[in-house]
Amino acid sequence: MMQGGMSNQYELMNVAQNCSSFEPTEQGLVSSIGSNKSVSCKKCSHFKNYKCELNLYDNIAASLDQG
Ligand code: SF4
Repeated sequence: MMQGGMSNQYELMNVAQNCSSFEPTEQGLVSSIGSNKSVSCKKCSHFKNYKCELNLYDNIAASLDQG
């Protein structure tokens, strides 16, 4: 199974959709045209080395879990 990463694709998208600091990279901007659903932390300019450089990710992910 694919456990053990800090997060999966689905969570990366969910977090980005609920993040007020999402800042699309150029690449993310292009690929999000026509589809808001494609936002993901992977397309956020604050996402570095698979981590949120603003340290928002964990909080948002946690609040989603508690939904
Ligand atoms: S990488 Fe950080 S700032 Fe960017 S959308 Fe994800 S949680 Fe928000």
